[in-house]
Amino acid sequence: MQLERHELPPIGTHCYVLKDEATQRAVIFDAPQQAWQVCEQSVRQQGLAVDALILTHGHWDHMLDAHFFNEAGIPVWAHRADQTIIEDAAVQGAFSIPGLELKSAQVDRWLEPGAIEVLGQKAEIRHVPGHCPGNILIHFPELGFAVVGDAIFKRGVGRFDLPGGDEQTLMTSIREQIFTLPPETQLLPGHGPATTVEEERRLNPYVQA
Ligand SMILES: [Zn+2]
Ligand SMILES: [Zn+2]
Repeated sequence: MQLERHELPPIGTHCYVLKDEATQRAVIFDAPQQAWQVCEQSVRQQGLAVDALILTHGHWDHMLDAHFFNEAGIPVWAHRADQTIIEDAAVQGAFSIPGLELKSAQVDRWLEPGAIEVLGQKAEIRHVPGHCPGNILIHFPELGFAVVGDAIFKRGVGRFDLPGGDEQTLMTSIREQIFTLPPETQLLPGHGPATTVEEERRLNPYVQA
């Protein structure tokens, strides 16, 4: 398995690509601007098929390119709590960049907390609301990492002042859903550098463990 991170416009949002060379398949986490280009150049033109685009949450900077995946027939997965902002992206216009055209996307599969198989790997979905109502994390215990969206960052936490955000909900999500992952787990956030559960439990200034 191979994991790539692409930091994409317009505000430096990560698109993660998980590739399985053995089966020539891949999944993509989040679709900022140019995620479709990344998918074409570094996945499809390499001969890999894409199983799904998994949205960690529905904020505009994570779903700008999701409609391209719809058009190509690639399944889009997300949490139902973000249905409105994904399927009617214009509602997010006030919080995006003026002049940016937000295109809505269709979700093909609503993810629920619990076990799931991704590229033949055992994975677990956890619901981590507070930054955004539909923020999920996807934990791959055998690969040792979790893609966490904007719930937590290295020494930071997600904003909770956007619509649907709530500080107490976010703190509870982090303590109960993120800090309970194995301590050595790599946390891969939507922005900025990776970190680990152990490091954030000790050093995150915003969360009391
Ligand atoms: Zn966000
Ligand atoms: Zn973001």
